Amino acid sequence: MESLRVLELYSGIGGMHYALKESGISAQVVAAVDINTTANKIYRHNFPDTPLWNKTIEGIPLDDFNKLSFDMIMMSPPCQPFTRLGLQGDIADPRCKSFLFILELLPRLCKMPTYILLENVKGFESSSARDYLIKTLSDCGYTYQESMISPTSVGVPNSRLRYFLVAKMSAENSSIQTSAKGEAGGVTQWSSVSSPSEMMSSNYHSNGCSFSHVTDSEFPERSSVLRSKCQNTDQPSEDNPNVHVLYKRETQMDSQKKTNQNKNLSVQQIQGYLEPQMNIDMELYLLKPKTLLRYGSILDIVQPHSRRSVCFTKGYGRYVEGTGSVLQCCMENEISSVFTNLDQLTEEEKLQKMLKLNLRYFTPREVANVMGFPQSFTFPEDISIIQQYRVLGNSLNVLVVARLLQLMTSEHFGHSEGEEQFSVLENEYPCS
Ligand code: SAH
Repeated sequence: MESLRVLELYSGIGGMHYALKESGISAQVVAAVDINTTANKIYRHNFPDTPLWNKTIEGIPLDDFNKLSFDMIMMSPPCQPFTRLGLQGDIADPRCKSFLFILELLPRLCKMPTYILLENVKGFESSSARDYLIKTLSDCGYTYQESMISPTSVGVPNSRLRYFLVAKMSAENSSIQTSAKGEAGGVTQWSSVSSPSEMMSSNYHSNGCSFSHVTDSEFPERSSVLRSKCQNTDQPSEDNPNVHVLYKRETQMDSQKKTNQNKNLSVQQIQGYLEPQMNIDMELYLLKPKTLLRYGSILDIVQPHSRRSVCFTKGYGRYVEGTGSVLQCCMENEISSVFTNLDQLTEEEKLQKMLKLNLRYFTPREVANVMGFPQSFTFPEDISIIQQYRVLGNSLNVLVVARLLQLMTSEHFGHSEGEEQFSVLENEYPCS
């Protein structure tokens, strides 16, 4: 195949670019576009030869796009308009403006791209933005396929359920979706995973883009959305900082789900993604006593032999609840023995017990490993650890996107065989 010319929109730190490389497709990124200067610095550091436009997408003239003469668009539009705690402004949200601009631009291009891949958060599938996207693609003559995929379906011990759409210009450039797909057009049979509404109501922790989370006491900011949530869930409130919830707050179902995930041998163990212990500055990564005392009961703790972890979000390292798993480094003590009857102990005794687990954050390198970034991916020296977590949390799982790129460009795509391959990827337990 001739080398494909690829346009990478909302390029961030280049997760899509790495996926393209990983896919083995003969291709070059002819332009990457993003407005975030930190992300751009990291992108440039890793892809010095790729033209990177530090511009707002909606400010780029049609002509400049035409000159690129691209065959593929890969994009991850901002997810805040669609997240549950992002107020779900949908197309009314100003952050959706650039995406609407792209949809309007598409039919006006001299040459529409053959392929389009889009990634977004859970929630996008029921948005008006998605409806508008589907209508545009249909009108322009694309065949498309949507799915909700988490990295566990490619053997990675991390949950990050995301919406994906892959589209290909129909050979005959017709605007007709295959009739077998019926009313729903190209929409994947959601029921094989769970219905979109079930997915919407499943654990919001899997959604990594814009949630407000319980803060670590070292970084005492807190949103109003969060406050009401805290009250609902009996978490320590700002007004009453002495209330500590110190027993593991886990339902029987949560616990069973984790046990099942850890038994799933098709998923790798976390240890394969960890840095050698001696390379890690534990001072930086061990959880502070204040954090343990205040949030010990709501941590998602994993061990090196675990086959699961929750989604690492952009708030990891700053906030505690729902931002990502922490690692138990000392295996001599069982979590259950540490947390049993903890609430009956004095503060000092509680702390001493929890400290025995040696809980630490995953390092940014480890988060990058879990997200499928190759070892060649590095950060410039002046990017802080918190910034590294933030940009990684906004990014995507490289291996999942690589698989989708392979499927989208395979000759079967758009025919039934291609779709069967999709259902394999989709067949994922919608986990947090
Ligand atoms: N896939 C990327 C992350 C995408 S997150 C990765 O692998 O890192 C969304 C990105 O869109 C952010 O980096 C943000 O800076 C960028 N962005 C948001 N609105 C934009 C606009 N109007 N023009 C250009 N970039 C924009």
